[in-house]
Amino acid sequence: MINVTQTFLPPIQEFEKILKRAWDKKWMTNRGELLLELESKLANYLNVSNFFITTNGTLPLQIALKTLNITKEVITTPFSYVATTSAIVWENCTPVFVDIECDMLTIDPAKIEAAITGNTEAILATHVFGNPCDIEAIEHIAKKHNLKVIYDGAHCFAVNYKGKSIFSYGDIITTSFHSTKLFHTGEGGAIFVPDDALYKKCYYHHNFGHNGPLDYHGLGINAKASEMQAAVGLSVLPYIDDIIEKRKILTEHYEALLQKNKNVTLFNFRASTERNYSYMPVVFKDEAYLKLVLEKLAALKIYPRRYFYPSLNKLPYLLNSVSMPISEDICNRIVCLPLYFELEKQQVAEICSVINSI
Ligand SMILES: *Cc1c(COP(=O)(O)O)cnc(C)c1O
Repeated sequence: MINVTQTFLPPIQEFEKILKRAWDKKWMTNRGELLLELESKLANYLNVSNFFITTNGTLPLQIALKTLNITKEVITTPFSYVATTSAIVWENCTPVFVDIECDMLTIDPAKIEAAITGNTEAILATHVFGNPCDIEAIEHIAKKHNLKVIYDGAHCFAVNYKGKSIFSYGDIITTSFHSTKLFHTGEGGAIFVPDDALYKKCYYHHNFGHNGPLDYHGLGINAKASEMQAAVGLSVLPYIDDIIEKRKILTEHYEALLQKNKNVTLFNFRASTERNYSYMPVVFKDEAYLKLVLEKLAALKIYPRRYFYPSLNKLPYLLNSVSMPISEDICNRIVCLPLYFELEKQQVAEICSVINSI
């Protein structure tokens, strides 16, 4: 069976050797030595500061909204994973959708201003498949209208934009280290906050609002990551360059084999982006064709994933249903093809030959 992804795991002895350090100390959480070591290694690897690791990639979105005191309308993208919208709704804010750029799949800045009202307080946008949003245009609009900018960077581990980590653009940036993501800690995530004062506020929020047993700073939640999670991360991190390199080879193989197929659109990345090869999205000419591809591949036990699907403006719990034609159209036609470290070039060729035979 070939799934859309397969979690990368090193030999278990390497994980056990790291975990034993926490075991011997009988220290399982509350920012233990393994977590601090992982943070320091990630700071080096990504060349970023002002971040901390969290227990998943969703709580950081909620913490970001809370820390920035967002209580009203948040302009957001319909083309993302459900966590992006649900975090807004969970924080009792109102998501206001703005459609995407059809080639980049990120929120369309040209349509943002028309959606701004007296209640708009923030923009929460997703860097889709590791492709950066139009950061400059969004920053310009945010400055002009005094809005905060939060980026969901769940797909963006190791992506650089204009020579800097993508995690350094915006007021608050979140990411996910879920086991389906490029780099993972089983479950996990991180929050990046360039401004020092805001960073401290976020930090307290993730630890019940306090720093040490006596030092209280206000309301908080528990978004701490455990030593088990850190041990997974420390055991995966030494392989990350090999993982990205292998994914690059597979991606280029897919692109070479599919580029002549007129029924398939390959994805273009924004200029000045260093890619991380986290996903292999393809857009088919229509949904009927997509369904045929999925059916033929399923017969060979090959399972790509319709991702993202559905367009988030269609979520059943949203009160006001709006229409987002570009996002809805793309959601009907897009699939992420299998891409992971242990996938072989031969398997990529097999998948492409099924697609090209239709
Ligand atoms: C995976 C993902 C999340 C959620 O991260 P978790 O770690 O699973 O909570 C949020 N946004 C996007 C775009 C994602 O892909």
